[in-house]
Amino acid sequence: MSDPSNPLTLPILSEIPLSRLKGIGPKKEKSLHSLEIFSVFDILSYFPRRYIDRTNEAKISSLKVGEEGMILVEVLNAYKQKTRNRRAIVNATVTDQTGNVTLTFFNQPWREQQLKVGTEVIIFGKLDQYRGEYRMVNPVVDLLGDKTGRFIPVYPQSGKAGLSTWDFANWTKDAISKSKARGFAEPLPRSVREQYDLVSRDKAYSSIHDPKDLREMLTARKRLVFDELLRIQLLLVARKRQLEISTQGITHDFEETLFEKLIAGLPFKPTNAQIKAIAEIFNDLRASYPMHRLLQGDVGSGKTLVAIAGLLSVVEGGRQGAIMAPTEVLAEQHFVSVKELLGDFSLSDSSNLLGERKLSVALLTSQTSEKDAKEIRAKLSQGEIDIIVGTHSLIQDSVEFSEIGLAVVDEQHRFGVDQRAALQNKGTNSAIPDLLVMTATPIPRTAAMTVYGDLDVSILNELPEGRTAINTKRMTDSQELWQEVMGQIKSGRQAFIVCPLIDESEKIDTTSAEATYQRLKENELSEVSVGLLHGRMHASEKQNVMELFRNGELDALVSTTVIEVGVNIPNATAMVILGAERFGIAQLHQLRGRVGRGLFQSTCYLISESHTQETDARLQALVDSTDGFHLAEIDLELRGEGTIMGAEQKGRNDLKIASLRRDKEWVSHARDTALTLLELSQQGEDISLLIDEMNLFFKEEKVEYLFKS
Ligand code: ADP
Ligand code: MG
Repeated sequence: MSDPSNPLTLPILSEIPLSRLKGIGPKKEKSLHSLEIFSVFDILSYFPRRYIDRTNEAKISSLKVGEEGMILVEVLNAYKQKTRNRRAIVNATVTDQTGNVTLTFFNQPWREQQLKVGTEVIIFGKLDQYRGEYRMVNPVVDLLGDKTGRFIPVYPQSGKAGLSTWDFANWTKDAISKSKARGFAEPLPRSVREQYDLVSRDKAYSSIHDPKDLREMLTARKRLVFDELLRIQLLLVARKRQLEISTQGITHDFEETLFEKLIAGLPFKPTNAQIKAIAEIFNDLRASYPMHRLLQGDVGSGKTLVAIAGLLSVVEGGRQGAIMAPTEVLAEQHFVSVKELLGDFSLSDSSNLLGERKLSVALLTSQTSEKDAKEIRAKLSQGEIDIIVGTHSLIQDSVEFSEIGLAVVDEQHRFGVDQRAALQNKGTNSAIPDLLVMTATPIPRTAAMTVYGDLDVSILNELPEGRTAINTKRMTDSQELWQEVMGQIKSGRQAFIVCPLIDESEKIDTTSAEATYQRLKENELSEVSVGLLHGRMHASEKQNVMELFRNGELDALVSTTVIEVGVNIPNATAMVILGAERFGIAQLHQLRGRVGRGLFQSTCYLISESHTQETDARLQALVDSTDGFHLAEIDLELRGEGTIMGAEQKGRNDLKIASLRRDKEWVSHARDTALTLLELSQQGEDISLLIDEMNLFFKEEKVEYLFKS
């Protein structure tokens, strides 16, 4: 029935059953259910994975090893085998008369059935060479139906469910043609569509499934990407605003007197980035809403000073501050920094004849004796401790504050959201303390906007002056390597040697570190003093070893990744990372940041015998760049966005079509638009179509509530 006055919204489409489409009977419907496709809306949202442009076909003989290409071939044979660890491999030989290629499929046993002898298929993949034969591993396969178009959509996973890519092409086409009468509802104001030059919904859905050419597909994609990102940003922005209006924070009152004293006493000038971040934090501290801020900064960018400036100001305002670190070593180090910078500070105190008292700082970890811990807890609850530094010990129930004003959580990726909230929840009255989380594993700003969408972000993108750039080399575990390391030690420097992560088990990592320690002590580094540090040692033993290394009594320190974060030893100039291929980019960058902290030229040695393409790309990225933000972009590029989103964020950020790396600028556009729309809706503009859509996508969330003002 033609009814353009009642256009199709996404929620309406999601109520229309699959059986309305031509060729979907009970059997196909069941297969579609296995792909989580239940409605016409779902099928329209099942976007092609790629498109085949038939004008781009290559011949096997013209393909080069290492390059991607599309070939039109016939299947000569296909066999299934099992690997030693019982995974299925299917090998198929295909030909196009100019040559043969072997296709190898891992974990896709159904390929044997799909690739019947004589079948014509389109293959898209990268050519490599294996035991002298040309090969493609897990290429994209398309059965050649009776398709004649030039630009053909290819749908994901279709073979496994017994659904061909042509099935999807036909169904989506049918769905589009059947929705013509009513048309699609348009949730975006015209102004937004014009600003970003976006095509209509109707056009977007029909062109993404059946584009005339690449250009048409790209304009369709742009619209759908925008819609997807906008829904997420709208949710995040609305949620953040709701939090601000529904919760009461602390309005800290301070003159920056102590802060000025702190800056005046520093042996260096703060960087511009530090000054900006501190200003942002002060602004939040003085505001009536609770601060939720993420401080991102590369290793060595000086996050501690920023945190201390915040803590000090909160103390000046009459409240307490806390820093929580993930390890004992780090907590200890923060404690030392805080003592160093604030040890001589006094606070006014009218209950005291002198009219002032010393600013008091304490350390609480699982290593603190029960007697001391008891005293610290008592003082903390009496308000006699101003700043407490610690580990998880800080969030135990027995720890109470007189009045906590600011909670700082360092290396936040090591803590769950619950733990960071637990520290913030130590507030004593209804006002919520401010929260600052710090991370040395930067992620690109646009990704941060999505992943940490309800946190504000401050960035330290500038290293303090006078740092010597770290030289990074890729090497093998060879004589040459250890000679270089010995050379540095002989000139008075020290070396870290990090052993590979074997698996998640600390026990095995320890064994490998012990073996390396024995070997180096007896052979390559026998002339110098070598220490060992691993996670299974007692905390006191660890401290002892760190102390020896810090004092220069040890020349080299063999360790597991326990030294990953925070450790500051300016005299250490060599960082040897064994089995470097086992670490991710972010972790390697972190480890490298342990050196280059003093005035001496430092070198990071990435040791790896492995030469997969992925390893080469990763290690080369580190050789080429020391910029954490740049590396984070590359990491995103190499690993895909799935990896930066923790389990908690999955779902809401399940991007169907947008890509955080490809569509970076669209994340910002969506963010801006979300802010504008929220504003407009408060002024009475109707955005109910968008809110209804959000309800469809974020079922768990009380979306409507978020938009009530
Ligand atoms: P990170 O961001 O890795 O936590 P830190 O806060 O530990 O870095 O700072 C690393 C080192 O740099 C510390 O020794 C600190 O005193 C020093 N530092 C911090 N800010 C500056 C600055 N603006 N100029 C020079 N050195 C600085
Ligand atoms: Mg730090």
